[in-house]
Amino acid sequence: MDNHRIDFEALSARIKDILYRYMAVRSTSGTKAERQVEPFFKALIGEIPYFSEHPELWGLYPAPNDEFGRNVCWAMVKGSGSDTVCMVHHYDVVDVEDFKNLADLAYSPDELADVLKEHPGLLSDDAAKDLASGGYLFGRGGCDMKGGGSIQLALLEQYSKMPDFKGNVIVIAVPDEENQSAGMRGAAVLLSELKAKYGLNYLMMINSEPHQRRRPDCGVLSEGTVGKLMPFFYVRGYLAHAGKVYEGLNSTGLLAEIMTRTEVNIDFADSYAGECAPAPTWLYARDRKDHYDVSMPLVSTGCLSVLTLNQTPAQVLENVRKTCFESFEAVIKRTEDSYEAFCRASGREIVPLPWKPCVSEFRELYEMAECSHGEEFTKAYTERKKAILAEIRSGAINTIEGTFRLVDAIYDYVEDASPRIVYGLLPPYYPNVSNCYFEGIDPKAESVGREVVRYAAETYGEEYEREYFFTGICDLSYINIGDPKAQRDSLSGAMPLFGEIYDVPFEAIKDISMGGINIGPWGKDFHKLTERVYKEDLYRRTPVLLDHAIKYLLG
Ligand SMILES: [Zn+2]
Repeated sequence: MDNHRIDFEALSARIKDILYRYMAVRSTSGTKAERQVEPFFKALIGEIPYFSEHPELWGLYPAPNDEFGRNVCWAMVKGSGSDTVCMVHHYDVVDVEDFKNLADLAYSPDELADVLKEHPGLLSDDAAKDLASGGYLFGRGGCDMKGGGSIQLALLEQYSKMPDFKGNVIVIAVPDEENQSAGMRGAAVLLSELKAKYGLNYLMMINSEPHQRRRPDCGVLSEGTVGKLMPFFYVRGYLAHAGKVYEGLNSTGLLAEIMTRTEVNIDFADSYAGECAPAPTWLYARDRKDHYDVSMPLVSTGCLSVLTLNQTPAQVLENVRKTCFESFEAVIKRTEDSYEAFCRASGREIVPLPWKPCVSEFRELYEMAECSHGEEFTKAYTERKKAILAEIRSGAINTIEGTFRLVDAIYDYVEDASPRIVYGLLPPYYPNVSNCYFEGIDPKAESVGREVVRYAAETYGEEYEREYFFTGICDLSYINIGDPKAQRDSLSGAMPLFGEIYDVPFEAIKDISMGGINIGPWGKDFHKLTERVYKEDLYRRTPVLLDHAIKYLLG
């Protein structure tokens, strides 16, 4: 690649210029403010002559069925041949709640740094040291991840100026990563369309999320990302007066038992090749009573976040089923023991309690109602679902509440009133993806991690380690997939909202299948007031490493 020359001094200045403008756009995740990135993107692309000459090579691509009408911003430098490298970054940033009265400065790195110096009480020792050193850029989104995004955009601009560029490079900037990745799920479809239109051969998706370091002198490259699933639990007990406790079965006790058996239970976290997913944790749990009386709550609900390295949705759901069953047995046993002790102490005759463990996947409950009430049920359910979807779309309720209302709607047609645990999945779903088990990986993509490690050592004397999985959850989840049909089947049976307001384009993902890697700057305290990115990486080293990876892949 003789024409592949970059003035890295000038590139540093350009990254800074782009980043300050990008950060000034307050694109808070999960709000319509994300769309303010669009004029920024258009203006930036408008400054690059190549894209004025080739208006067909960039644009805004709508995220399908998006409540805010958000768009994927994309641009492609189209050189010779079909080999293509994609770069992705998300342009949404988290809220600035914990900035309190500094919130207005959160988007202006220099002003923020000046003010933070006057408020040392807000900073940890490490943050204070980093601030005093001047080596870090503070501010919302600078680290996560408009820093990485600005590097990608500045490099793309450089490629657009190179005569006879070999290969193709696409940058996609996506919304909603901190929420449900509506942007990246849409981008998979966009990339599939671009592939068909231009005959592209996708080699690799490079993300530039910031990396955290275990040791300050050793950077991290991730060659994949954890998956995330959110099993839900709808626990129906048997209602009784609190004074007649053995006549009922309290749904809260049953839910609590499931929680005890799963919360930070490392058995739920799979490991792969010496790496281990963080243990699961509960994100939501409550009974569905909305008033006080002396009855037990009939229904209690909750959901659990499970991170995966290798498990499929079917495997996670099987594990959930087993845990529900065992929890049910344990609660029945405890209740029986208590009842017997009560009878002995009060001289009563022991009459066996009627409880039996009963666990159903969402799909099974639906089929039960359909089987007993046929069209009467399906019609009523469709109507109810329409109303619930409208409430979700209007923001009146969230997807968790919507899902539980759908289970309520089925229960209107289930005759069996005995206690039961219904389980399933809530959106979003992030598949686990890693180069270590992506069979179709291009040989260059397979080796690019090692090459970047070698190059960093040679160029900067800096050590980098490689990991198979980025554990922070990221958009690399949607770049390749083993069995789209199996995944679609698992989700359609377990996730009541799947295919309605939430979908994963498994088939498009299969079509674009490519390896992935995260090459990003060193950052600290993501999402916090002291979010910061290491300037040496941001302006100097990461752009060089990223450019080297792209040259290597396309060379
Ligand atoms: Zn991020």
